[in-house]
Amino acid sequence: MTKTIFKETKRDNINGWTNISWKCSNCNHIVNLPQQQNFNYCMHCGAKVIAKVGGKVMV
Ligand SMILES: [Zn+2]
Repeated sequence: MTKTIFKETKRDNINGWTNISWKCSNCNHIVNLPQQQNFNYCMHCGAKVIAKVGGKVMV
């Protein structure tokens, strides 16, 4: 199975909701998701996410 690492590229706070842009290291697509949403696979290439690397400290 293909594995990937998601790296945080951007973070926006909208009305108390934190939206995070992740970059998949396997397919290089950007995935935008609310911080609260959990995920285990890349929506674009289907690779299993084995690690999430945040560029900023969690608020
Ligand atoms: Zn991917």
